[in-house]
Amino acid sequence: MKNSEEIMDAARVLSRCQHVTIFTGAGISTESGIPDFRSPGSGLWNQLDPEDFTIQRFKANPQRFYQLGIKFLETILKASPSPAHQAIGEMEKLGLVKSVITQNIDGLHQKGGSKNVIEVHGTLQTASCLFCHKQETISKVIEDVQQGLLPPRCEDCGEPVKPDITLFGEAMPPTYQQALEEVQKADGMLVIGSSLLVSPANMLPQFIKKLVIINQEDTPYHSRADVMIRQSISKTVPRLKEALLERKIS
Ligand code: NAD
Repeated sequence: MKNSEEIMDAARVLSRCQHVTIFTGAGISTESGIPDFRSPGSGLWNQLDPEDFTIQRFKANPQRFYQLGIKFLETILKASPSPAHQAIGEMEKLGLVKSVITQNIDGLHQKGGSKNVIEVHGTLQTASCLFCHKQETISKVIEDVQQGLLPPRCEDCGEPVKPDITLFGEAMPPTYQQALEEVQKADGMLVIGSSLLVSPANMLPQFIKKLVIINQEDTPYHSRADVMIRQSISKTVPRLKEALLERKIS
C-alpha cells in the first residue's frame, strides 16, 4: 500500500474515535538527533550496555553512570523538536487528540507545543538527591559533571543526585497511574516510534479499541493494529495531522 493511502486509512480510523491519545517512544526523537535504544546500527544499545543503566548499578557506582551517560544527557538537552513533535502539539490545539503519553525523557513534546503530556518514565529536566530528595535543575548537575565533580552531589546533604528518570529495575513513577487512567478513557491510540518492548509501558496499547502504529520496524502489536505505517515519523505525522483536520472540517 502507498504511504498516502495508509495515512488516509489512519485518519479514517482515528477520526471515528471520540478520545484519541498518542503514545510515543524514542523513535520520535531520532530525527531531532537523539539516538533511540534499539535501531540497528544507530541505537544506543550498539555502544552501551543496558545493564549499566539499572538503579542497582547507579547506587553502586553513580560516577560510572555519569561517565557513560554524559554525552547522551548533553545531546538531549541541546535538541529541538522535530516536525512530528510540532504536528502533535498542533493536533492537541486543534482538538484532534486529547493527550500524549510518552516513554521519552527529553521534554520535546512540551517544546513542540503539547500541553497534556504524561511522562511515564520521568523527565530529564530535573534531578533529585537519592537521600533527602532535594531537587536540582539538570543544567546544574551537568555543569558539575563537566567540571569533574563526579558524581554530582546534593548541596544539602552531600549524597549523589540522580536525574528524575526511571532506570531499569526502578518502580514506575505516579505518572504511570495517570497513563492507565487516560487509556481507560481513550478509544483510539496512535503509537509513534516505539519498539513496544519495554515493560510495563508496552502494556498500555492493549487497553485500546482502535490502534494505529507509525514505526519503521515491526512491534509485538503489529498484527492487532488497524493501520501500520512503516515510514519516517517526521514526514508522516504532519501529513496525518492534515488528513485528520480535513476530515474534521469536511
Ligand atoms: P526503542 O529504541 O526500543 O524503539 C524505537 C523504535 O523507533 C524502533 O523500533 C525504530 O525502528 C523506530 N524508529 C526510530 N526512528 C524512526 C523514524 N525516524 N521513523 C520511524 N521509526 C523510527 O524505543 P522505545 O520503545 O521508546 O523504548 C525504549 C526506552 O528508551 C523508553 O523507555 C525511553 O524512555 C528510552 N529512551 C528515550 C529517549 C528520549 O527521550 N528521546 C531516547 C532513547 C531511549
